[in-house]
Amino acid sequence: MSARNILVINCGSSSIKFALVNEAQATFPLQGLAERLGSPEAVLHWQLGDEKQSLEIPGAAHLAALEQLLPLAQEAAGGKIDGIGHRVVHGGEHFTGSCLITDEVLAAIRANAQLAPLHNPANLIGIDAAFALFAELPQVAVFDTAFHQTMPEHAYRYAVPEFLYKEHNVRRYGFHGTSHHFVSKRAAEMTNLPVEDSCWLTAHLGNGCSTCAVVNGESRDTSMGMTPLEGLVMGTRSGDVDPNLHSYLHRTLGWSLEQIDRMLNHDSGLKGLSGLSNDMRTLYEARISGHPGAMLAFEVFCYRLAKSLAGMACALPKLDGLIFTGGIGENSSAVRSRTLEHLKLFNFKLDEQANARCTRGVGGEIQAAGSPRVLVVPTNEERQIALDTLALLDV
Ligand code: AMP
Repeated sequence: MSARNILVINCGSSSIKFALVNEAQATFPLQGLAERLGSPEAVLHWQLGDEKQSLEIPGAAHLAALEQLLPLAQEAAGGKIDGIGHRVVHGGEHFTGSCLITDEVLAAIRANAQLAPLHNPANLIGIDAAFALFAELPQVAVFDTAFHQTMPEHAYRYAVPEFLYKEHNVRRYGFHGTSHHFVSKRAAEMTNLPVEDSCWLTAHLGNGCSTCAVVNGESRDTSMGMTPLEGLVMGTRSGDVDPNLHSYLHRTLGWSLEQIDRMLNHDSGLKGLSGLSNDMRTLYEARISGHPGAMLAFEVFCYRLAKSLAGMACALPKLDGLIFTGGIGENSSAVRSRTLEHLKLFNFKLDEQANARCTRGVGGEIQAAGSPRVLVVPTNEERQIALDTLALLDV
């Protein structure tokens, strides 16, 4: 059998990220991004091999963008795409793993839309468009939440009245599951430990950030909750705040729920604290030149991350290593170093040269002698989605 090709699609409300994954090749033959969909500025960017190209597609929505990228994907796949893997953000309690998309699966994803009103409807648009164009191909849904369905009840329940859980699905679900799963498996490979007998703390630090405790290949706790707002300081998201903040802002400033949601999701985090930017690279530069907001944002980010990792350690029977991943985790030696300074009780010490070396896709172990392992592991959510899709084609 020749090596199979999977088209991986990640639909946002106005964008589609895509990659063609060949099971025998380490790099993607094709990858790209359609953005500003539905607007006059809609544009498709792609990279085929080493060649980068763009095409303006004014007014194009998801279906029209997929129509444009289909011939590109077919060409890059030599005319043979074997399946499509869709990232779906919220699987609720219904989905404990990836699954072939059927009418029942679509109905269940729709039923979860209340839990992720910004994400699941966009994911569904992508799935509908892909079925309209590739009706004959098997399509698989890979959920951000599914990996965390192994959390024990004491980790996933909120201390609120039971009927809110039983009748209204109020519980912690966790996100970034594809990434936590991928990097913990990869760390086991890198250290020659069996996945089924290894314990990791993982920190996925991108625009969204979360930590996870992974025991023998299963998630036992994670920092995001019912929605991707809980937990760490993120690019524009606040992470944890006192839940009474909502009523306080309503009483004192007369803010509506929509205003509060917007502030916590879009105007907070690194952006809100620094008053400058949600981008860690910008903050790093500004911090060096003494910008007080950037210095504070960096400090709060690292301290809160360390606190979350220390909390996650409660879910581990032993620690085989701490893993950094995501745009910040893979690139910022300063964040890694400052975070570990807050975790002295764990005895973490970094090899500063190894720490500095791990950037731009270079991974490896970065601890000094005598310290528990610390690893930088580049994440690859597209590869993990393709692996899940391939596994279901084999069934
Ligand atoms: P992601 O969502 O995984 O693409 O990560 C985006 C985040 O990674 C942004 O906050 C970027 O500032 C950050 N990032 C990317 N490269 C670097 C770098 N060299 N140093 C610090 N942060 C970086």
